[in-house]
Amino acid sequence: MAFVENSINPYDVALQQFNRAAANLREIDDNILNYMRYPRREFTVNFPVRMDDGSTKMFTGYRVHHSTVLGPSKGGIRYDMHVSMDEVRALAMWMSWKCSLVGLPYGGAKGGVIVDPRVISVGEKERLTRRYASELIPLISPHSDVPAPDMGTDGQTMAWIMDTYSMTMGYSVPAIVTGKPLMIGGSEGRKQATGRGVVTVMMEAMRRAGITDFGKVRVAVQGFGNVGSHAAYYAHENGFKVVALTDIHGGIYNANGLHIPSVMEHQTIYGTIVGFPGADSITNAELLEIECDVLVPAALENQITGHNANNIKAKFIIEGANGPTTPEADDILNDKGVLVVPDILANAGGVIVSYFEWVQDLQAFFWTEDEVFRKMDPFLTRAYETVTRTAEERGIDMRTAAQVTAIKRVADALKTRGIYP
Ligand code: NAD
Repeated sequence: MAFVENSINPYDVALQQFNRAAANLREIDDNILNYMRYPRREFTVNFPVRMDDGSTKMFTGYRVHHSTVLGPSKGGIRYDMHVSMDEVRALAMWMSWKCSLVGLPYGGAKGGVIVDPRVISVGEKERLTRRYASELIPLISPHSDVPAPDMGTDGQTMAWIMDTYSMTMGYSVPAIVTGKPLMIGGSEGRKQATGRGVVTVMMEAMRRAGITDFGKVRVAVQGFGNVGSHAAYYAHENGFKVVALTDIHGGIYNANGLHIPSVMEHQTIYGTIVGFPGADSITNAELLEIECDVLVPAALENQITGHNANNIKAKFIIEGANGPTTPEADDILNDKGVLVVPDILANAGGVIVSYFEWVQDLQAFFWTEDEVFRKMDPFLTRAYETVTRTAEERGIDMRTAAQVTAIKRVADALKTRGIYP
């Protein structure tokens, strides 16, 4: 198991980060800043699901719209036993800042159901998803709130949501979710987008540090799901040496580098990376502190904390996951001179291509993978440039600079729209 600090509340972390950014935004009215501390709407639903053994089990799900100032709210749906209202609140707030930072016409949302997706059958997962989706219908639409996959959900989950919504409307509505399979209106490149974007950002960090020989750069990735596996794959493709990987079951290490396409095959066969031949076993806690140059946390929140930040050897942390680093750890890492590229920048490739998917669905005209990635990269490199400039101008770290940029854009929009009524 990874080092999970359940005692750290992700919403407290999100608010602490907000307060740090707010302290650097003296030009914004305190009333406007205070407005942005609150999620706009919060929804809790308790619902029954018929299980395969004939019993009926109750589940609890959430959806939070943090902000709808810049446009429809956008954010994933998570299936995990750690889901809570505060986790969903935090993730929704981070989505607001992420969409704003990279210049998307979206607000932020997030959803989740308290369930272990690995212990339910496919049929149970479909019934749970359809019931949760139908409970969400008053809250979602292509013009109000557009869900996407997150931990424990995938393209199939999105297909069930799309079908449930479409059946209720009486016609097909592909733009109701993003991250769908291609044959029902998904976008080329969406599945790979977050991980690929992580590597685009990693290469931008290297370029700015004057590092050109990627073969000498050792990368460790925590989590080998959608984000982690594609981040590892594209890092490998671009010549980085991926030395360590973990998933929920454990991890693997090879100082000479792991052949990622073979690890992916192993995972497809065995459902885990554990047992990959020619590698040593490591734990999740060990991965975070391993000898490497770049650390990519791509699993869950609160992995890098006051307890382990001092032991981290990496000089660069590229946050594939949302909220993997606590404010206390940020302080330690900043003092150590570690460059932390924050989640709302590093993993924004996913929502950028979700935006492309939504645009393609609305216009019913689809792009090639090449077009998708050609359009995605400039969103990330532009945002990187803005964050770096803001950090230099204001003498602040990258996370605070990213939040300052994002919060300022939402505040300016809010001020221009005015307070209703
Ligand atoms: P996923 O479910 O596809 O993969 C999660 C991975 O983390 C799996 O390999 C799993 O084994 C591992 N994991 C789960 N619990 C763990 C634990 N306790 N210790 C160690 N490893 C553990 O999820 P994902 O979509 O890859 O999301 C991962 C992170 O990236 C989340 O923080 C998510 O919010 C964030 N994110 C995802 C996307 C996206 O497009 N999917 C976009 C932006 C950010």
